Amino acid sequence: MEIAVTRVGQAGTRPKDEDLGFGTAFTDHMFVMDYSTDKGWHDPRIEPFAPVTLSPAAMVFHYGQAIFEGLKAYKTPEKKVQLFRARDNFDRLNRSARGLCIPEVDIDFVMDALKQLLKLEKDWIPETLGTSLYIRPFIIATDPFLGVRSSFTFKFFIILCSVGAYYAGGLAPVKIWVSKDHVRAVPGGVGEFKTAGNYAASLNAGEIAKKQGYAQVLWLDALERKYVEEVGAMNIFFVIDDELVTPNLTGSILPGITRFSVIDLAKKWGMPVSERKISMDEVLDAHASGRLKEVFGSGTAAVISPVGEICYGDRVLHIGDGNPGPVAMKFYQALTSIQYGTAKDTENWIEPVV
Ligand SMILES: *Cc1c(COP(=O)(O)O)cnc(C)c1O
Repeated sequence: MEIAVTRVGQAGTRPKDEDLGFGTAFTDHMFVMDYSTDKGWHDPRIEPFAPVTLSPAAMVFHYGQAIFEGLKAYKTPEKKVQLFRARDNFDRLNRSARGLCIPEVDIDFVMDALKQLLKLEKDWIPETLGTSLYIRPFIIATDPFLGVRSSFTFKFFIILCSVGAYYAGGLAPVKIWVSKDHVRAVPGGVGEFKTAGNYAASLNAGEIAKKQGYAQVLWLDALERKYVEEVGAMNIFFVIDDELVTPNLTGSILPGITRFSVIDLAKKWGMPVSERKISMDEVLDAHASGRLKEVFGSGTAAVISPVGEICYGDRVLHIGDGNPGPVAMKFYQALTSIQYGTAKDTENWIEPVV
């Protein structure tokens, strides 16, 4: 399929690196294609980033048939543009698609489309270490129809935005709050898919956490409210003695690509790592006996996010000494050096763009 390109008349300006936040500085162009049952995915195009016209009856507004991905393009010191495990994101998009009755995309084709878009927008990729271009592919149901069934038409988009360094002042530990009353996802549900409704469902608990001064919610399993699942939009790791422990993927946890990368590196380094159930009781015991060395989250936005405090009912656990732990730092350094091209890509995770 040929990708038609319509360029903007006047290119926008990228904010200064130090003024960049997250999710606001959209680039000039976006990639779009349409789906219908008779034509399949068709009419791929790159066009100016602009509002979209949809019927108020479009199914996505009413029934939430929507999936998305999140990944980044990085600029190396030599000003080369590269992606980190991008195919894995499109594989996951297709898994989410199957889970939500959305038609899958051709991964080779969308990888090519993304690269073409990135070439056009390469001036939007900031250069300061820690900054990047955030890539948001997503698919929405567009049939103008009020009735519950899967849509017959969809739109696929890739939008881009320049994003600032997550840790402008160095890696800072975050405080997280365990919700006892809310659940994010249940086994057999859609928690393992990146679908819009999961985030809508998490907002209420997130607000409660924020009111108490906590940055994110640590979710427990829905059935027993005992086992740790994940935090906000990150997976979670515990360092107990010298072992790295992360919840196993039970169907209600999002299979993070950063999570897989941490596990792969740990195995490569000979660090004991186990994917298993971990209960809050075990975390409390490990903390009480001094065996809980570190806790950190993993996700594309922050890469590694050290956790300095966990609030669980009337218990407040302080982890570490207020600074990020050595294990979290080691993973952060290793992953970001591969992403920014300052270390050799020994794992074959990098996809060059230009
Ligand atoms: C996207 C996401 C993650 C992290 O996945 P990465 O691929 O590492 O960015 C973790 N949990 C949730 C709920 C997410 O949406």
